[in-house]
Amino acid sequence: MAGPSECGIQVFCRFRPMNSKEERENNKFVPKFPAGTEDQISVAGKVYMFDKVFKPNSTQEQVYKGSAYHIVQDVLSGYNGTIFAYGQTSSGKTHTMEGVFGSELQGIIPRIVQDIFNHIYTMDVKLEFQIKVSYYEIYNERIRDLLDITKVNLAIHEDKNRVPYVKGATEQAVASPEDIMSCIDQGKANRMVAVTNMNEHSSRSHSVFLIAIQQRDTETNKQLSGKLYLVDLAGSEKVSKTGAEGSTLEEAKNINKSLTSLGMVIAALAEGNKSHIPYRDSKLTRILQESLGGNSRTTVIICCSPAETNEAETKSTLQFGARAK
Ligand code: ADP
Ligand code: MG
Repeated sequence: MAGPSECGIQVFCRFRPMNSKEERENNKFVPKFPAGTEDQISVAGKVYMFDKVFKPNSTQEQVYKGSAYHIVQDVLSGYNGTIFAYGQTSSGKTHTMEGVFGSELQGIIPRIVQDIFNHIYTMDVKLEFQIKVSYYEIYNERIRDLLDITKVNLAIHEDKNRVPYVKGATEQAVASPEDIMSCIDQGKANRMVAVTNMNEHSSRSHSVFLIAIQQRDTETNKQLSGKLYLVDLAGSEKVSKTGAEGSTLEEAKNINKSLTSLGMVIAALAEGNKSHIPYRDSKLTRILQESLGGNSRTTVIICCSPAETNEAETKSTLQFGARAK
């Protein structure tokens, strides 16, 4: 069987527009988009190349069609995939992944959900589909189920094929795009529960939305399964040594562990290093082990602010993206 339509890690770069605060402060607009190209970006005289660069005026639809749309077909063909949004807090990760549901401003997740069902409706009637979703977050290396607030510290186990999974995570069966969207709404409401500072919390946690699709050919009984992870990562900015207010040093050390490990894993994959990929170093990379690299499709969308005040973080984000290529 052929692999996903394009193998390896794809990296896309998106610059959001200046926000009103940046405008008010007369911030300089730093990125330059070289004319005649769609895959280059220049910041402070350095040019970076990605699979595609989205300018501040790119629409949600253009970003979806250009970066994520093709994954739907792969997942329905039985491949695993992961789409990440990476970048500093306020760079547009959640806007890119979720956006505003039910409007032109909806992001990748609702569009993918819709397209999965659109594809299924056009497929052979002898195929039977079962779709389950899970939704959890990783904060300080603890996994909290967003579909069941009683599950606050889930463990990772391995199945009989040694594939890691989050044991006990709710797997909600869904039959329509509306079912999935209401799970997400539920999860987002649950996310607020027991959180003292939501801004701080959301900038330091990874939210993981998993769509697992099983299909069975009712004539031959042949089965196919594909998993798609949609991950809104914690902010990539450095966490100060003291960490969050009231947190211990141990917590501060853990807070960005999954993000650091992800960088190492992606860099190792990009270098074609097959002998040691350090998946086991963090919760996030363990969970994603089967959906990163190898026979799966990995898409990274790096999100950047165009403002001069954020230039140092923007460069570090571009560097992360460049390492993944
Ligand atoms: P993050 O999740 O990276 O912290 P957000 O996605 O919450 O950042 O974006 C911060 C703010 O900027 C939000 O109000 C969001 O609506 C706005 N924003 C982000 N990207 C864009 C964009 N491409 N176009 C318009 N507004 C955007
Ligand atoms: Mg966010």
